[in-house]
Amino acid sequence: MKAAPDKITLIGAGLNGPLLAILLAQRGFAVEIFERRPDMRRVRLSAGRSINLALSTRGIHALQQAGLWEGMRSIIIPMKGRMMHSTAGELAFQPYGKNEMEVINSISRAELNIALINAAEEQGATIYFNQRCTGYDLKTGVLRVRNEETGEDAIRETRVVIGCDGSASSIRAEMFKLSRFNFSQQYLDYGYKELTIPAGSDGKHQLETHALHIWPRGNYMLIALPNIDGTFACILFLPFEGADGFASVTTQAEVMQFFQTRFPDAVSLMPQLADNYFANPIGAMVTIKCSPWHVQGRALLLGDAVHAIVPFFGQGINCGFEDCTCLVELLDRQGADWPRVFAGFEKERKVNTDAIADMAIENFTEMRDRVADSRFLFRKKVELALEAKYPQLFVPKYAMVTFHRIPYSVALARGIVQDRILGELCESVDRVENLDWEKAVQLIRRDLTPLELRP
Ligand SMILES: Cc1cc2nc3c(=O)[nH]c(=O)nc-3n(C[C@H](O)[C@H](O)[C@H](O)COP(=O)(O)OP(=O)(O)OC[C@H]3O[C@@H](n4cnc5c(N)ncnc54)[C@H](O)[C@@H]3O)c2cc1C
Repeated sequence: MKAAPDKITLIGAGLNGPLLAILLAQRGFAVEIFERRPDMRRVRLSAGRSINLALSTRGIHALQQAGLWEGMRSIIIPMKGRMMHSTAGELAFQPYGKNEMEVINSISRAELNIALINAAEEQGATIYFNQRCTGYDLKTGVLRVRNEETGEDAIRETRVVIGCDGSASSIRAEMFKLSRFNFSQQYLDYGYKELTIPAGSDGKHQLETHALHIWPRGNYMLIALPNIDGTFACILFLPFEGADGFASVTTQAEVMQFFQTRFPDAVSLMPQLADNYFANPIGAMVTIKCSPWHVQGRALLLGDAVHAIVPFFGQGINCGFEDCTCLVELLDRQGADWPRVFAGFEKERKVNTDAIADMAIENFTEMRDRVADSRFLFRKKVELALEAKYPQLFVPKYAMVTFHRIPYSVALARGIVQDRILGELCESVDRVENLDWEKAVQLIRRDLTPLELRP
């Protein structure tokens, strides 16, 4: 008689947990998930949980593997580029990619989460809501869960546990107690707050629909992503402290004054600004790196639980979904040899998740400051021109990360070389037509090898 496959216990039904559950259930595993929050299909989201996400190639690839992407097309809005808003209200559009195919996709976190939870249940996964993991014995596999409604504690036997429980992971906390567990966390001095631009009186978007809007202001910024209901989900990023920080914008009058002077064209579209501002919490942003990611084929960490990153490359969930596909590809190749699969997973992913963590921090300066700089915008044009001429050799870093599945570590390394090449080529030129193409081809052929571009 064929042995029943291992039951896999996931902690967390955020975004990665249900996607991983689907991919595992499709391979015949029995999957259960413990989620501390109530079922979001039945209970209203708490304030501050409605941010939109930008989904791009890596995330889409994973959703395609799970058979979900086509069904999601009705809940996404493609964004073709950044629309920059100056303080005077002037607009400047900068495309993300080289053509209309290279877009990023705005999706509501809640809608994506609900679609994933539904699909996980349809595939046979069991999700226990209001069940917080309060402890896990890494030696015996005994899991402790608390019913968040009744306060009752229970014990569950487990065979394999995967912590998909986000940046404050309870499973990681257990690993932390082991000797020689490496851990670093780095908070930004910036926080974020969600705000909304409602739909116009005709129910339509009040700003260009197919763009990610940015109000870059040097040290801080406001961004807005379109929703399918005509609204925009906005995120205000400010330092926690200082003159332009959350600590200085605490009364209704200060909020209005701050927005009227910094984001005048946005404030006129936000009649509920002050209410929104005070209703929503200030979130913190952290980068987490740790190792090892697994313990003896019994426990593994995945997604934000093992590599939380700051949101400025729009890659957190794209990276987490890539974790999921990487893990099941290893399972497909090696079978349920958990110690080997988990070790292979960490080996393949960590170098890449470390790389995107660093690029995400770097990209914060780019978004809040450099996108408003004409030299920076010129370099972006040159990048696209070089890519058009040498598509296998020169792919802009943003595109390598966002529109390809080139390993993040390769994107980081090539990005440094390409930056140097761009520096040399753009030094005394301000028109793409005046580029020294002979020098360009020499530098590119000398310093870059052809890329393997996977669909
Ligand atoms: C402001 C902001 C903007 C972002 N924008 C983007 C973007 O544009 N594109 C992108 O790709 N990524 C973006 N991200 C990152 C993305 O949100 C995260 O990478 C993603 O949510 C991680 O998914 P996860 O499933 O690993 O963790 P989470 O989404 O945090 O889910 C973890 C789940 O585990 C549950 N849980 C926690 N502890 C326990 C416990 N003890 N027991 C049981 N359950 C538990 C939680 O309730 C939660 O449901 C953004 C993040 C932020 C903060």
